[in-house]
Amino acid sequence: MLMTPFKLHHPTSVEQACEIAQQLMEDGQKFDWVAGGTDLIPNYKWHINTKPHVISLAKIQGASVISATEIGCMARLSDLTEENGVHPLIAEASLKVASSLIRKNATLGGNLCLDTRCFWYNQGEDWRRSIDWCHKADCGTGADCRVIPNQNTLCVATYQGDIAPNLMVLEGMIHIVGPSGQRQVPVRDFYQLDGKKKNVLAEGEFLLKVTLPSESQQRIGCYQKLRVRDSWDFPEAGVAASWITGDEKSILIASTALESIPKMHDEQVSAVLEDGWQGVESVKTLSVAIQKSIKPVNNTTLTPRYRKKMVRVLTKRAINGFLR
Ligand SMILES: Cc1cc2nc3c(=O)[nH]c(=O)nc-3n(C[C@H](O)[C@H](O)[C@H](O)COP(=O)(O)OP(=O)(O)OC[C@H]3O[C@@H](n4cnc5c(N)ncnc54)[C@H](O)[C@@H]3O)c2cc1C
Ligand code: SF4
Repeated sequence: MLMTPFKLHHPTSVEQACEIAQQLMEDGQKFDWVAGGTDLIPNYKWHINTKPHVISLAKIQGASVISATEIGCMARLSDLTEENGVHPLIAEASLKVASSLIRKNATLGGNLCLDTRCFWYNQGEDWRRSIDWCHKADCGTGADCRVIPNQNTLCVATYQGDIAPNLMVLEGMIHIVGPSGQRQVPVRDFYQLDGKKKNVLAEGEFLLKVTLPSESQQRIGCYQKLRVRDSWDFPEAGVAASWITGDEKSILIASTALESIPKMHDEQVSAVLEDGWQGVESVKTLSVAIQKSIKPVNNTTLTPRYRKKMVRVLTKRAINGFLR
């Protein structure tokens, strides 16, 4: 399918990117950011929510920085390795994203801002027209959500990014920039419960970089991912955990690919700690509590029932290292 034409802008600095965004907003023109393009371009090829302008972040100076405590939005996933000083948990999660070819282009910023996915939405234009669209890509038909009908305008498309839950359990901070200046948001507060809005970015803002506290270096972690084909598939469920050796109070757990947002499981961890940590038994209780707390919907390849069941297994595997 041929892509709808768009004008591509190539700013070379953060200031220039903000100026272009500001100008387009003043002119009433819609636009998207693009980084590696491994998510946006396939969507554009299927004529999904295309815009007349696209601003590329590829030439922004300093946006590819990689260190133990700072990763720029344009850092390629293939470069997020322990050899480059990246936390082992982030290196592990990056290696589990898509295929090696995709990871050469894919970036951290694009991964964190990944569009939410749904099998009624990630389809070609003719296919979507044949079912009368849905309100995430509404073409003026007023069509309803196919997954949970009659629920106003909420979209429950699934966030299927791998890296976000890992940055959450390392207590990462997202640095946002836009025409109105800079601000910071913890990764755990970045996502918003609507498959259309996705995150807290306002119009014209983009994700500049992620920083990690120096204490994150003391954390050990594990990321468990369920997917159909290990060679390149999106997660159908994912659980990340991190801890400081011997300190059960430090345990942090987050999940992904189960709802419209990746999320932390502080409540379930606190409940288990309140009853006193009992090793293997506590791990079992925690896994069941997290399984009960998630509500996957029927819009990815595997059934919600199976994905929910697997959350218990993934959580156990992710946290097992703490017991050693
Ligand atoms: C076959 C296939 C398999 C895949 N498997 C996985 C997988 O297993 N796990 C996974 O997590 N992903 C997977 N992906 C999705 C995607 O490749 C990755 O998430 C990748 O990291 C996206 O990065 P990108 O730079 O290519 O994003 P882009 O396509 O450039 O952008 C993605 C979205 O983020 C926005 N965006 C990009 N950068 C910024 C920024 N700095 N600030 C604000 N908005 C921004 C864009 O506007 C767009 O909406 C897969 C993709 C394909 C095609
Ligand atoms: S969850 Fe509903 S509104 Fe969202 S993409 Fe799927 S069918 Fe469309």
